[in-house]
Amino acid sequence: MKNIGVIGGGIIGLSSAYYLSKAGFKVTIFEQGDLKDGCSFGNAGMIVPSHIIPLAAPGMIAKGIRWMFDSTSPFYVRPRLNGDLLKWGYEFYKHSTKAHVARSIPALKQLSLFSKAMYQQWAKDLPFDFGYNERGLLMLYQSAEAEKEEIETAHVANQVGVTANVLSLAEVQRLEPEVRVQARGGVYYPGDAHLTPRALVEKLIAQLKEMGVTFHSSTKVEEFVRERNVIRAIRTNHGEFALDEWVLAAGSWSGSTAASLGISLPMQAGKGYSFTIPDIEKNTRIPSIFLEARVAVTPMGSSIRFGGTMEISGVNHTINMNRVKGIFDSINRYYPDMKVTMPAKEEVWHGLRPCSPDGLPYIGRSGQVANLIFATGHSMMGLSLAPGTGKLVSELAMEIEPGIPLQAFHPERYNT
Ligand SMILES: Cc1cc2nc3c(=O)[nH]c(=O)nc-3n(C[C@H](O)[C@H](O)[C@H](O)COP(=O)(O)OP(=O)(O)OC[C@H]3O[C@@H](n4cnc5c(N)ncnc54)[C@H](O)[C@@H]3O)c2cc1C
Repeated sequence: MKNIGVIGGGIIGLSSAYYLSKAGFKVTIFEQGDLKDGCSFGNAGMIVPSHIIPLAAPGMIAKGIRWMFDSTSPFYVRPRLNGDLLKWGYEFYKHSTKAHVARSIPALKQLSLFSKAMYQQWAKDLPFDFGYNERGLLMLYQSAEAEKEEIETAHVANQVGVTANVLSLAEVQRLEPEVRVQARGGVYYPGDAHLTPRALVEKLIAQLKEMGVTFHSSTKVEEFVRERNVIRAIRTNHGEFALDEWVLAAGSWSGSTAASLGISLPMQAGKGYSFTIPDIEKNTRIPSIFLEARVAVTPMGSSIRFGGTMEISGVNHTINMNRVKGIFDSINRYYPDMKVTMPAKEEVWHGLRPCSPDGLPYIGRSGQVANLIFATGHSMMGLSLAPGTGKLVSELAMEIEPGIPLQAFHPERYNT
């Protein structure tokens, strides 16, 4: 059986390793970090088949420009004279159309449902608990504008078979009896789920080790040794490794890694923050999104996690406490009685979402490098789409028909 190297030990790389190993391949993961933190660890933990509209959608450009002048806003692009950012921004602009949204909806829905089915299987098969719960998602709105937009989205969702129920505040409150909610109402997506990401990632790493997957942590892939259209080996800070096939699951770093192979894979890091309040006295039951504030709220056992912001400001790890305060200030606007204190900087987690400009992931085999499979660019939905992506990667490696069509996710769609 072939030896397959997976570049990146986030949830996409780990899920790929899981299905590749189950299919009988010998798998090695190369991770530049220590496998103890990263975008896949502290995210909001939502599994969201409800999210059928990509980030690149009509209205986003106007909202983005408005938000850029507010230091606590949920979306920010740091203007830089950088070729990659300019190309990415142009592609984002070009894809923010109704036609792109219409094309993307069936593809995203199919991948989401495929992936959720894998999570249901994991909840049965994996010998550990990762806090998987199917309680749905509440989209809460306070303004007439957000209400109108969300009800329109709910209609689209229902039309394509994703159930969305428009609820009055009293109906929202019946679903959330412990926590007083301040909103005009909400849309409830009963098909969504949630889990505890750190529990999943840490236990999955241990499980993969038991299954015989080899891990090289603190090992950065620096260069590819390419012979014509094949990667013969990789060069890392710990030497050279020659394997048969490669999976690129390097998150926000995938664009620069692909560029070293001469492949254009537009990618920007979308930084987000989260903080978790432990032992909350009265917790919510169901994850919610505060729509105006773009804040995701997830109950995780006796804790509650608040996450948000999308800062397109390059690969960097600075924490902007103004934006964290934007998240914090939204809490009592929606949950007026919840007792919370502003987290200190050390208590704030951050992660870099790997964002493609059209809001769709890159999944598929390279047309330019024969032994390379891409699995990256999942932006705000990497956790949701991980097991499905991993399964598809294993099918591509086995050279069998993938479980769902992959045209919309073609990794070299920006190569002309
Ligand atoms: C605040 C926040 C909330 C979120 N909430 C949700 C949510 O509720 N639901 C959801 O579905 N998604 C959510 N996301 C998005 C989700 O976290 C990401 O989409 C997902 O973690 C991406 O996984 P990944 O494996 O592609 O990337 P990563 O987790 O970033 O993993 C990629 C890995 O590759 C490694 N790497 C990169 N380059 C190299 C190299 N050259 N050599 C070796 N290793 C390399 C990196 O060190 C990294 O560990 C959220 C994100 C944020 C920031």
